[in-house]
Order: sequence, then structure tokens, then C-alpha cells
Amino acid sequence: MTAQSVIQVRDLVKRYDTKTALAGVSFDVNAGEILGLLGPNGAGKSTSMKILTTYLSATSGQIKVDGIDLAQDPVKVRAMLGYLPESTPLYTDMVVRDYLVYVGEMRGFDKATCAKRLAEVAATVGISDVLGMVIGTLSKGYRQRVGLAQAMLHNPKILILDEPTSGLDPNQIVEIRNLIRDLGKNHTVILSSHNLAEVRQICDRIVIIHRGKVVADGTLDELEGRVAHTHHLVVSLASTATAEAVTKGLGGLPQVKTVTVSHTAAHPVAHTTYEVEADADVRTQIATWAQQQGHTLVELRRKSADLESIFQSLTLEA
Ligand code: ADP
Repeated sequence: MTAQSVIQVRDLVKRYDTKTALAGVSFDVNAGEILGLLGPNGAGKSTSMKILTTYLSATSGQIKVDGIDLAQDPVKVRAMLGYLPESTPLYTDMVVRDYLVYVGEMRGFDKATCAKRLAEVAATVGISDVLGMVIGTLSKGYRQRVGLAQAMLHNPKILILDEPTSGLDPNQIVEIRNLIRDLGKNHTVILSSHNLAEVRQICDRIVIIHRGKVVADGTLDELEGRVAHTHHLVVSLASTATAEAVTKGLGGLPQVKTVTVSHTAAHPVAHTTYEVEADADVRTQIATWAQQQGHTLVELRRKSADLESIFQSLTLEA
């Protein structure tokens, strides 16, 4: 499957007076994916998003959205994008419905279209029950939903969400992450975060920005593969063979360094779990071997505790 790039960012440079916030940032966003812009505070995530959404102009560089050059036709590009800024500038003394009608009017909607979109979007983000409430009385999680509704009212195909869970409590974070994942089914999404766990949970691909530069770009698997020289795999097998025999078999596969038994379980199916250290990602070889040996694969995965170290090594070495 070839991924279709819907946003192309090329050599983006942004200087604020003497401060260089972006020093030549390039990345692509593929149609339908949830892309995470990950980086420590001050890396340049918000600046990239503000330029993408035409709130700021770049010092140099080029952005194309759906083939349209942002500098040539910012109005058309803006119509394709929905933007949730980091601190949503909501009018706290307005009633939710009135605020969204106001946003719709700013977008040039007629009354009927506005009412229709408002109802649709409210249902999508789960605010139908609070449309009559004053924004300032809502919890932060609900305010963030109202912010999302604002971003989606004009039915954009791309959503740009700047630190969408910052300032929320743990329950609200889970709810908003789930909501973003749902929105990702029908939209291309770019979100920024300084939280590794968040990006890992929500995103299909990650672009790591550090000091105004892209230091890594890939799927989680690709990034982990790039940094981790040793691959840690977890293999669970149901088999009539002894654990010793299985350990020996696994240990005999090319590039496998060590095999240890970590766990045996009786339920729901009797199986033994092995931890395998290898010089490469040998999951395919293990699956083929298991099939040939007549073992049933209960689980086969890479241990994924490595993102933290990837992030550290990438942002330290840059
Ligand atoms: P992030 O979103 O990754 O935290 P930002 O894009 O907000 O990072 O900031 C990138 C860099 O640009 C930081 O060093 C920040 O201090 C600087 N910066 C951001 N906005 C301004 C501004 N309006 N004036 C001067 N410097 C700025």
C-alpha cells in the first residue's frame, strides 16, 4: 500500500527576531493517518502548527495541503483545516450553542447549515447535553470538546490539535484520547505532545522535533528499530514440547542471542512465555518456525518499553 501524502512541509524556517524556532523542518502527513509531533517544550511544535494553520507566516519554506500551496491560496487551505490551539480561546461567558453559532457565522454558514452542522458535531464530540450551558462552568475536558467542535464545524478533512490533553485530569485525558482516535477514523490528524505515552497510544506515525529540527520520522516500530540494537521479543507458545526443547529450538534460530523462560500459564490455554533477545526483529522467522514445529503461537510481540530511551537518545544526540 502506498501512502498518499496530503500535507507536505518542506524546509520550514521560522525566526522570531534573533531566535530561530524552526531551522528547516520537513515532513509529510499521509491521508487518514494520525501523526504525532513529539518534542520537548520549546522544540518548535506550536510554531509549526501555527504556520500550517496560517496563523503565522514562515520566514522561508513551503507547505502544500492537498496539492495547494499555502502561500498561494491560504483561504482554500484554511477551509481544509480545523485547528485546536494549545490554550483554546473560548469565550467563557458564552453559552456553548451561541458560541458555536457564532463560529458558524464567522465561517459564513447560513442558519440551516449552521444548525445542522452544530447538531452533527455536538454528537460527534459528545457535547449535545451541554449545549445550553455557559462555557466557563464546564470542566476542562468538556471545554476541550467544545474546542474540538469549533475546529470541526466547517467539516475539515484535516484536524490540527496542539497539545490536546494538556491541563486535563487523568480521566479527561483518557476520554479525549479516545475521542481523538475516533476522529482519526474520518480525518487526517496532526497532534502535538511532549508525552511519549500519549503519542504511542494515539498515533500511527511520529515526527520528533528537537530545537527546530526533525530528528526522527517514522512509525513506532521503525523508530524503535532504528535505535534499539538489541531486539527484545516476547513469545508465548502452547505446545506439547518441553520448555527446554522450545528454548533450544528458539535459541537455534539465526540472530537469536538468548532465550529465557519468563512465565507459564494454565489459562485460558496452557502456554509458556519466552523472552528472546536477538540482533534483528525475527518475529517472522519465529512464527514460521513455530508453525513448522507444530507449536501454537499465543503471542508474539516486541517489548515496547524502549520509546523513552529512543526519545532521549535522539534528542540528546541532535
Ligand atoms: P513547542 O510548541 O514545541 O513547545 P514553540 O513552537 O512554542 O515550541 O517554540 C519554539 C521556540 O520558539 C521556543 O524557543 C520559543 O521560546 C520560541 N518562540 C515561540 N514563540 C515566540 C515568539 N512569539 N517570540 C519569540 N520566540 C518565540
